[in-house]
Amino acid sequence: MFMTDRILVVEDEPDALELIEFNLEAAGFRVFTATDGPGGLQRVRDGGISLVILDVMLPGMDGFEVCKVLRRSPATSQIPIIMLTARAEEIDRVLGFELGADDYLTKPFSPRELVLRVRGLLRRLHPPDPAEAQVLTFGDLVIDPSRHEVKIHGNRIELTATEFRLLQLLAQRRGRVQSRDALLQEVWGYEKVIDTRTVDTHMRRLREKLGNSADRLETVRGTGYRFRDE
Ligand code: CA
Repeated sequence: MFMTDRILVVEDEPDALELIEFNLEAAGFRVFTATDGPGGLQRVRDGGISLVILDVMLPGMDGFEVCKVLRRSPATSQIPIIMLTARAEEIDRVLGFELGADDYLTKPFSPRELVLRVRGLLRRLHPPDPAEAQVLTFGDLVIDPSRHEVKIHGNRIELTATEFRLLQLLAQRRGRVQSRDALLQEVWGYEKVIDTRTVDTHMRRLREKLGNSADRLETVRGTGYRFRDE
């Protein structure tokens, strides 16, 4: 049986909520809504939600806090989150180290753009190719796809699903430059070229988490990124 993906939209502005709901339903998704932070959090905890669209400015508990709480709990940590922000200055915080959202959109955004991102992030939830389950070892750095685990000197590094996929993909294609567009396509599932700082911000966060092993992640100016395997 085909199960329709269930999207939760957490937004307190009625017009914005209605617009998003309308467009997602038109795209074939089943949509649930919440109009404040605690309500959104509760709805995710109730289960069955495939992806969350989370506004930053919310009554009760803001989107940053909701995102952080969802990421902290094993039951909800893997659910893709797209955050909506009214201000460009908030983007770094949205994608920030402690929050771990998968992507963001700055208001006003085109509903079509939102639908493309939702589709992309859901597409990648599908079970990975068994050939990709191979453990990758680079000195002290161990990437284990079947356990979804990264270890450095035996210590487990906590990565979000997106960070993990980004690292895994670069490591699998070590030595070869991966463009931002290619990474957006394969890590985020985006089919169209989307103008976003998502890749760079995630990369920065991934490097922070990897500490000394971050040396392996090279920036290739004007092109993208490469995993160095000496
Ligand atoms: Ca709002």
